[in-house]
Amino acid sequence: MPKLKGVQIELTGRCNENCVHCYIPQDDRNHDMDSALLERIIDQCGKMGAERITFSGGEPMLHPDFLKAVVRANCKGLKVRILSNLLLLDDNKLATLKECHIHEIQTSLYSTEPTIHDAITQIFGSCERTKQGIAKLTQYGIPVFISCPITTINKNSYPVVLDFAKRFGASSVPDNMILAQSDGNGKNLEYRLNIDEALQVIQDILDNDTAYDHERFSPNYNNIEEALPCVQNICSDAICINAKGEVIPQPEWYKVLGDLNNQTLKDIWENSPEIKSLREINLKRFPKCESCPAIQFCGMDLGANANENLSRDPFVIPEHICILAESTRKLVHSHKSKLSKETA
Ligand code: SF4
Ligand code: SF4
Repeated sequence: MPKLKGVQIELTGRCNENCVHCYIPQDDRNHDMDSALLERIIDQCGKMGAERITFSGGEPMLHPDFLKAVVRANCKGLKVRILSNLLLLDDNKLATLKECHIHEIQTSLYSTEPTIHDAITQIFGSCERTKQGIAKLTQYGIPVFISCPITTINKNSYPVVLDFAKRFGASSVPDNMILAQSDGNGKNLEYRLNIDEALQVIQDILDNDTAYDHERFSPNYNNIEEALPCVQNICSDAICINAKGEVIPQPEWYKVLGDLNNQTLKDIWENSPEIKSLREINLKRFPKCESCPAIQFCGMDLGANANENLSRDPFVIPEHICILAESTRKLVHSHKSKLSKETA
């Protein structure tokens, strides 16, 4: 039986932003996790010897017992990570987060320019509040990770976000793969970069070396299955729980594996037939991938696959994934050969 190491809990579906690219459907953005259930889940994570817990949302700080949950998880010896837009960060929360030695807070900054960031969140003033939150966290010595999801609205903004992150000593990474809404509606995909735009971002990254992902763009995998971790890693050491208390494989993948309102986490982790079948998935389910030269550049993800077709089938690979992976492979190879000619 694999050991459960990480659990992500969606404290609430509610959010104080309304991002154009959000994968959470509007109908799911309306409830908080029951507080007694939340306590039970944290205790069960501790009992099972989990190492890390992530509190997400919606916006987790909207949950009335957000701080209590952080303190409880910390007391159980869990490393706490938080995904938040920081709009509700105040001195009281900062003091508790500092006391609890929070492992990391991850936030999204789309641009340092308010008109661009706020056009994505659809909340006036959110850019300034998120930037102030980042500054406060670094002032308190709380590690921050800045994610910069790239949409059609902010496609030229990520270099300034990376510079901003550097100034505050924060880690950061641009992300040009917007996930489809988990109800299969696909409406948010109008904000995803098309292939040409996504390749332009990768070319810029290669040319400017601002966020060159050496590990990902290097052929350093020991075997082919390592190159497509999404296939091997499902329910291997981590699980997610939504605000209703349902256990799901990944935050964006609405596939119910068990219900914590009437089952224990241990029972679901060890006995759920759905989890067992997910653990049996291997590369053989994707014969085209086994011999694919672009596998190391591939961002294929079972949950993302499921969200992109009406039958919600995780084994149907969206066409753009393969086109983008192959085009990235060619870009990186030509970049490397240009570099080696320059140094020869
Ligand atoms: S802050 Fe996160 S959860 Fe809230 S709307 Fe934006 S992407 Fe969705
Ligand atoms: S690019 Fe397509 S065929 Fe190749 S590994 Fe990825 S999903 Fe499979």
